[in-house]
Amino acid sequence: MSKKDVMDIGNIQLNNDIDTRQKIFKFYNSYETCKAIKKCMLGSYTDKCDGKIIKAHSISKKNGLSRISARNKNGVEVVGQFKKGNTTTLNPYEQNYIEQYVPIESASTFNGLCKKHDNDLFKLIDESENIVLNDKTVYEYVLRCSIYYWYERMSNRICADKRRKKFNHRIFDKLYFNIMNSENALERDVKYLISNINNVRNKIYYKAYEINGNLNIAGNFFEYDGTTVMYTILIPNIYKSYVLMACIRDNNFFEVDKNFRFFNSKDTEEFQLALSELLLQSTTIKHYYFNHDKWVNIGKEKQESILNWIYLDDIDKSIDMNNRNRIMNMPNFVKIMIDT
Ligand SMILES: [Zn+2]
Repeated sequence: MSKKDVMDIGNIQLNNDIDTRQKIFKFYNSYETCKAIKKCMLGSYTDKCDGKIIKAHSISKKNGLSRISARNKNGVEVVGQFKKGNTTTLNPYEQNYIEQYVPIESASTFNGLCKKHDNDLFKLIDESENIVLNDKTVYEYVLRCSIYYWYERMSNRICADKRRKKFNHRIFDKLYFNIMNSENALERDVKYLISNINNVRNKIYYKAYEINGNLNIAGNFFEYDGTTVMYTILIPNIYKSYVLMACIRDNNFFEVDKNFRFFNSKDTEEFQLALSELLLQSTTIKHYYFNHDKWVNIGKEKQESILNWIYLDDIDKSIDMNNRNRIMNMPNFVKIMIDT
C-alpha cells in the first residue's frame, strides 16, 4: 500500500461538506465500535436466546471497570479511553487522538448477546468478590473475549464490505478478506468453547503474569497468526493485577508455546514495553479502558507522547511502514499507569 492510495481516499471525502463528512465518519464508526448490528452471537449454538439484545459488557463491570474507575464531578463512575478526535475524516494524516472519560455503564459494551446469554455465561467472573484464575474462570474470560471479537470482526467485515462497494478501492478488498479470515477463526473457537461448556477442565492453554499493584488498565485483545487465535486479557485489581494469555486446546502445544510472548520477556521493563506496544496501536485503543484520574495526573508531557505515538502508529499502518521509532521512543505506557 502506498501513501498515494491513502490520499486518494482522503480526496473522495474532501468533495463533501463538513456535515456530510461527519455523517460518513459516524456511519463507519458505529460498525467499528460494535453498535451498528444487533445480534446474539450464540443464537444457533446453544440453548435458545431469551430477552432482547442488550448492551453486553466485554469487560466485567464489577471485576474490571469498577476496579479502575474514578468519579466525575457529577459523581458518575467513569473510566478513561483513547479515541479519534477528528470526526470529519477517514484520513489518518488529518486525524488526532484524545482521551475521554466514559461512564462504566456504557464502557466496553457491544450489541452481540441477548440478556439470557449475557447473564448466564459469565457468572463466576462477574459475581466473585476476588479475582481467581482457574480452569473455570479462565474459560469464562476466554469465552467472553472470543464472542466479543467474533462479533467485532463480523461488524468490521460488514463495514469493510460497505466501504469497498462505496469507494471501489482495492485496499478495502484486502481488508475485507483479512477480517473474514480472523472472523472465521474466532467463530471456530466460540463453537469449540460452547461445545465443551459442561466440562471446561483442560480445554484451554493459559499463562498468567502477575503485576504487583493496580495496572489501572482493563481490556481484551486477540491476535491471529493464521493458525491460532491468542487471547490477552488484562485484569486489574488494587494490590495485584494479571495479564492472562490463553488459547483453546484445539491447537498444538509446541506451536502455541512460542505465542506466549510476554512470558518470554527477560525482565520487567521488557515485559512492560511489549504490553505497551500492544496497547498503543490505533486499532487497539477501542478495546481497553483505564483509570481516568491516573491519566489526568501523569502530566501533559507524558500524555502528549502517548497520544503522538498512537497517531504515528495510525499513519504507519496506513502506509505499511514502520517510521515511528525513527521519530520518537515508544512511551512505557504500562509503567506510567501502574500504581505500586
Ligand atoms: Zn442469546
